[in-house]
Amino acid sequence: MGKVIFWIVVFFLVLLALRMVSVYKSRQDARDDEAEVNKKKRADRDDTKATDSMVKCGRCASYIPQSTAVRKALGWVCTDPDCSRRG
Ligand SMILES: [Zn+2]
Repeated sequence: MGKVIFWIVVFFLVLLALRMVSVYKSRQDARDDEAEVNKKKRADRDDTKATDSMVKCGRCASYIPQSTAVRKALGWVCTDPDCSRRG
């Protein structure tokens, strides 16, 4: 009788171990996916930050990417040749 109980206990211990392993694995997969998504999100944000920092032109009052603007005494000014005509 003691032998049967021993084997039942072993059986359940093995089941528990398998279950813990699969839970651990799926949790790790989820974390990997999340990390991947976060990385992608961060990359997207970096892109938008690089392109989306808009400044207002001091002459024509239009919004332009800071990378194409020139800093002048009156603030940011766009390098567009039509700038002064537009304003
Ligand atoms: Zn301008």
